[in-house]
Amino acid sequence: MNSVAPLPTDRPAWREPLVKALRAVLPPTSLLTEAEDLRPYECDGLSAYRRLPGLVALPEDIAQAQQVLRRCAEFKVPVVTRGAGTGLSGGALPLENGLLLSLAKLNRILEIDPLNRTATVQPGVRNLAISEAAVACTTRPTRRRRSPVRSAATWPKTPAVCIA
Ligand SMILES: Cc1cc2nc3c(=O)[nH]c(=O)nc-3n(C[C@H](O)[C@H](O)[C@H](O)COP(=O)(O)OP(=O)(O)OC[C@H]3O[C@@H](n4cnc5c(N)ncnc54)[C@H](O)[C@@H]3O)c2cc1C
Repeated sequence: MNSVAPLPTDRPAWREPLVKALRAVLPPTSLLTEAEDLRPYECDGLSAYRRLPGLVALPEDIAQAQQVLRRCAEFKVPVVTRGAGTGLSGGALPLENGLLLSLAKLNRILEIDPLNRTATVQPGVRNLAISEAAVACTTRPTRRRRSPVRSAATWPKTPAVCIA
């Protein structure tokens, strides 16, 4: 166990060609290569274990994420995927000789279905953002003047599905 992950002593042969290939498909701010930029990604919620990732990619959309995975497959570079890095079991612990794929920028809530109590979200959406969006979609029974009976039929004033 380390309080800070050690710097790698040598760089794998794939690193420079992969960086070049990724720069062609990612915006400049979506590829981290320097040790000081990689440091925040050296652990997840299980901070007793730390490893500096070889590279970190932060795609802004699905197409970019696909491109990153294609390039890594081409160079046979292992990938660890990361959401917010709050997992407590070390599942997002990076590989020194691998790429960490952070999906934090994929942060759109795609759909909230209040009746079924489900939400479809991208992997970078924060819990709080879901709670806030769900409040806006809350379905409450509405009162009807002529019928004292509340049933599902009295509910549809709020749309069954909210698209955020
Ligand atoms: C203070 C604190 C409180 C917490 N409270 C709760 C709680 O109340 N309830 C609860 O359930 N959990 C809780 N957790 C645990 C943590 O928040 C959850 O495990 C959370 O769901 C992890 O999400 P993440 O996006 O941070 O995943 P990460 O930690 O980034 O990843 C978790 C695992 O999923 C993999 N992964 C991530 N994204 C993808 C993807 N898009 N595709 C494939 N694999 C992927 C990673 O490689 C890793 O193995 C808490 C954690 C902390 C630190």
